[in-house]
Amino acid sequence: MEIINVIPRGYCQGVVRAIKIAKDTAEKYSDYPISMLGMLVHNQYVVNECTHLGIHCLDDKKASRLDLLDKIDSGVVIITAHGASEEVYQKAKDKGLIVVDATCPDVMKTHVLVKEHVKDGDVIYIGKKNHPEAEGTVGLSNHIHLVTEEKDLDNLGDLHNVLITCQTTLSLLDTNHLIQKTKEKFKDAKVAPEICNATRIRQEAVLNLKNIDVLYVVGDPHSNNTNQLKKSAEKVGIPNAYLIENANDIEENQIKGKNRVAVTSGSSTPTALTNDVVSVLKKYAETGILDKDIVIVERCKTAKNGD
Ligand code: SF4
Repeated sequence: MEIINVIPRGYCQGVVRAIKIAKDTAEKYSDYPISMLGMLVHNQYVVNECTHLGIHCLDDKKASRLDLLDKIDSGVVIITAHGASEEVYQKAKDKGLIVVDATCPDVMKTHVLVKEHVKDGDVIYIGKKNHPEAEGTVGLSNHIHLVTEEKDLDNLGDLHNVLITCQTTLSLLDTNHLIQKTKEKFKDAKVAPEICNATRIRQEAVLNLKNIDVLYVVGDPHSNNTNQLKKSAEKVGIPNAYLIENANDIEENQIKGKNRVAVTSGSSTPTALTNDVVSVLKKYAETGILDKDIVIVERCKTAKNGD
């Protein structure tokens, strides 16, 4: 069995930055209660690491960022890498909280773009419903309209000076398709695709794979960019693509008799988790025995940089 390391994969700069901000905050404000508005990045191991540092994660997927703020009375609040609307920052300040901003610069770039455009126009924002990044961006103005699928276009009436843009972690192929469909309805619309470079090059690496029997995508099921890597594999006809959280999720029947097994990971997945998966697969390739006796959570604490 051959094991193919898909490059690039793993942590992006936005995630490395957010983790550093969280660690620095835990150190600087060690005497204060510290909360974060949702998962810092979409990976439970990273969130666990923050919890070990004394940061409380307010993780209710059904609650908006504004609602989550109601659960904090004092101390420090960390805005996650996905960003938030101005209303959230204002409410936090009104409550007397110290605001620490871990928003990824790529997300901020989209915010600047849409805020400028809505001064004299409408924005059609292609994004995922109930995703914190989409919530934060759409919440910037009533002139930003969320489109998740083609049928959402039917709900859009007359719009003025339209700009089409999107969430940073979407599928390249699906988004291009939806942009085309949007352009058919709003023929004069300008297009500013905002899928970030980290998402793009990780997807392209998967889309360019050849003759792969199995692909493991290591990451958290809540991570949109991780899910898109699995979907990319399905789009290029890789017959078996599995999203796994760690090496313990590998099953022998997934790899038995397979020749070429590839491994990638989402941009919020700690490198140690992906290395564990590769180690387990290598051992299986050498001995035919699936050995998953690996202490993942402890090793996860040492992960700092991506692949
Ligand atoms: Fe930023 Fe892109 Fe990484 Fe998200 S995936 S944190 S937008 S660089």
